[in-house]
Amino acid sequence: MNAAHTDPRIQILDEETVNQIAAGEVVERPASVVKELVENAIDAGAETVRIEIISGGGGGIKRMRVVDDGTGMSRENVRLAFLRHATSKLRAIDDLHRIRSMGFRGEALASIAAVARVEVVTKPRGSGAVPATRLVISGGEIVEDEETGAPEGTGVAVEDLFFNIPARKKFLKSTQTELRHIYAIMEQIALAHPDISFRLLHNGRERIATQKKGTLVDAISALFGSDLARDLIPVSGRTAYMQVEGLIAAPAHTRPNTAQILTSVNRRQISSAALARAVREGYGTLLPKDRFPIAFLSLTIDTGLVDVNVHPTKREVRISREADVVREVASIIRETLRSARLIPEASPSPVPGHSPVPESGYTPSAGAWQVAAPVRAYHPVHREQSATDTQLRLTEKTADATAETLLPGMKVIGQLDAAYIMVTSSPGSHEELIFVDQHAAHERVLYEQVRAKREQGVRSQELLVPVILTLRPKEAAAVREALPLLLAEGFVLEEFGRDSFAVRTVPVVLGKQVEPEVIDDIIADIIGDELRSAADKKEGVTCIIACRGAIKAGAHMTREQMERLLSQLFRTKNPSTCPHGRPTMVSFSRERLDRMFRRT
Ligand code: ADP
Ligand code: MG
Repeated sequence: MNAAHTDPRIQILDEETVNQIAAGEVVERPASVVKELVENAIDAGAETVRIEIISGGGGGIKRMRVVDDGTGMSRENVRLAFLRHATSKLRAIDDLHRIRSMGFRGEALASIAAVARVEVVTKPRGSGAVPATRLVISGGEIVEDEETGAPEGTGVAVEDLFFNIPARKKFLKSTQTELRHIYAIMEQIALAHPDISFRLLHNGRERIATQKKGTLVDAISALFGSDLARDLIPVSGRTAYMQVEGLIAAPAHTRPNTAQILTSVNRRQISSAALARAVREGYGTLLPKDRFPIAFLSLTIDTGLVDVNVHPTKREVRISREADVVREVASIIRETLRSARLIPEASPSPVPGHSPVPESGYTPSAGAWQVAAPVRAYHPVHREQSATDTQLRLTEKTADATAETLLPGMKVIGQLDAAYIMVTSSPGSHEELIFVDQHAAHERVLYEQVRAKREQGVRSQELLVPVILTLRPKEAAAVREALPLLLAEGFVLEEFGRDSFAVRTVPVVLGKQVEPEVIDDIIADIIGDELRSAADKKEGVTCIIACRGAIKAGAHMTREQMERLLSQLFRTKNPSTCPHGRPTMVSFSRERLDRMFRRT
């Protein structure tokens, strides 16, 4: 904890300092209010922070209240706190390069109070019989100021956000969207401060609860579930001017995007595409090409190399020597996975597609983290083939069953690397060799069927066993928001328990026994940012279902399965490309081979 443990004096920054601080909108939406209030609580040395959100009645988010057990404020201080540029954390611009508190601009409370009704009740630590102070500020004016009884610490309640700026209020999104932003911010903050207990209640229901004096593993377990927490590998590395600590998930856990690569720099949660790339790079070929790892990393970089003063909400920082930092992070991750024996030392360049399977887990070195990393065993071949059978059966029209399985003159000669089907065909007088990308091919088949079904009206079917999705609060909010879209596509989801959903019904093309991971991936994509910004959502969903439901690269197939897939492919309208426009097949004609061998 960097914060002082008594309430330090609040002062107004001088104009010169103010002018050098990145200015801008602090209050964009309810989540920004929560962020600023919670950061203040952390800066005040709080051990427990309680966040209460009230929504409903068509009014969106009505009230947000953050209560802490931090230093509290004296009556004199709290009256100053709502003035612009009033801060106890910075005195002069020279302090900025060594700032360690979350806040420093003295602007948050003033900005919030200018656009909402705020009530603060605060009592300094160790102030004994001295009464607490209660202030009510509306549109920037103190309208009530009185002594009251209250425990030590501070509670700030914010109501009617943007009541005096109707134009801003109009731009707020649905309650679920705003809640999703709040949960996302709270997840990040809770991960960066596992030693503090955060409890978030929405309309009285607990949505987030982390424990006091916890470790990062405890926080991850509380936020994302114990399954993931069990499969984490500790990371600890140091370079000349940087320290990297944290946890990364065993490669069996993957995500379709970088959303779960969470990084903080000097305890500030930041979004950095460069750092996310570095982490992905560290996993190398341990992950399939289009999958991303899960990682929680905290970088401590010499404060002289980090500029926090570049973004009004402090979401971004500027790192000098960023290229070095990226390279070093990638190499620390690689080393960590190597010593966890996930990358065999004998093979300097692992062959793509041949992810090494560790013989056993790894033994954690003595330290704060006692975690084991059981790596999910690869499916035995027979199970995989029966899954492939199911996938193929679903995309087979009933008539196909009796139809001849392959185009005349085609012969399957084998499968390369469990990814490409090799076929010979003789369209003219010569034979040619064709490589078919099994995933792209099946994706094309599924895509056309999903589209056709949609035009006839979506048909869905009940799963034999409902698939249970246990989500993070942020994802759960996104799913609630996407329920109408999901329903329109044939997914019936029922909410039960905290942030859990039962998927009862799926589109017919996916079948009755679809693998839970496939559903997981489809839902993750549907609530993902890419689709949210897509112009044609329906088309986007069709592509997602086709991609996630299709046979994957890496699935071993029998000759008969390969023949069935090809026969389905050649019945589609566009057999030569997948829905994303990539080729489904590449052919080597006799002429091409002759040219390659310089025979002509
Ligand atoms: P900043 O955090 O940038 O200093 P704020 O407007 O957020 O600016 O807060 C102004 C000042 O009010 C802080 O510097 C701090 O001294 C005081 N303050 C705000 N919230 C709390 C709190 N929860 N507990 C104790 N002091 C607080
Ligand atoms: Mg602040």
